[in-house]
Amino acid sequence: MLREKEVKTVLNKLKKRDSWFLVDYTVNPYEGCSCNCQYCYIRGSKYGENLAEGLAVKSNAPEILEKQLAAKAKNGQYGFVGIGSATDAYIHQEEKYRMTETILRLLLKYRFPAFISTKCALIKRDIKLLKEIDQAAILPADLGSTLKRGVILSVSVSSLDDTISHMLEPGAIPPLQRLQLLKELKQEGFLAGVNAIPVLPFISDTEEELDKIIFAANEYDADYVLVGGLTLFGNEKADSKTLFYKFLQRYDASLLPKYSSLYESNYYTVSCYQKELKERADRICERYSVRNKILE
Ligand code: SF4
Repeated sequence: MLREKEVKTVLNKLKKRDSWFLVDYTVNPYEGCSCNCQYCYIRGSKYGENLAEGLAVKSNAPEILEKQLAAKAKNGQYGFVGIGSATDAYIHQEEKYRMTETILRLLLKYRFPAFISTKCALIKRDIKLLKEIDQAAILPADLGSTLKRGVILSVSVSSLDDTISHMLEPGAIPPLQRLQLLKELKQEGFLAGVNAIPVLPFISDTEEELDKIIFAANEYDADYVLVGGLTLFGNEKADSKTLFYKFLQRYDASLLPKYSSLYESNYYTVSCYQKELKERADRICERYSVRNKILE
């Protein structure tokens, strides 16, 4: 049984639209995440060392969300709702609790568009519902002329290597299965791509490894590939920086000094790295004629 948590609010309005995912709102049906990624950006917060152990279901989320969506719809404040910005919408427990499914039904009722990025195959259960939202959603005025549909989907991939994925994302399905999932979502007619955020410095961000990811995304029919760097928070034992450095110790300790130079005392990489990563990703996307953003 999951711990149950009552919340006062569930629909979060972003200060401005997320430029990667085009979302104006986020909703998290659960607290914590069964994918348990060691690099997860929510580590370094109150969620603790093991995201799966700290899991809770937001039991009153539907009734709160309904009120919030009704108010936004009444004022015409439509926008993409990202489900799972601090959890995966399809964690293992979703099979039993069906909170994401309930949220999708509310989005359909109030005609809000949806964005989901996942590492879990359970999303296939909701294909029919997602198709209905894709057709029925009302888009924000500035996106309506270019997008003309109400669902955007991503599978998230940080490396194609099964060993690395097993060490870093122990609760997610293997990377190739995620790409297979992408293909199935594409065959169902969705706008869907690969979210390669974060790629891992000196591991999956190199010309050769990034080429493999973007080539594979194209082979599996991605509409777009988004590439972004790794942020590492905090120095406490539950924080992502501590856990990721532990992974580096086991995977390849010779990378530790390189990471120290790259991050210095920050949680993000030095700016020249970010510029080079973007240029590399753009160049490879162009090589395979894959969009490096969701919109054309
Ligand atoms: S799937 Fe996303 S939210 Fe879940 S642990 Fe991994 S990075 Fe964090």
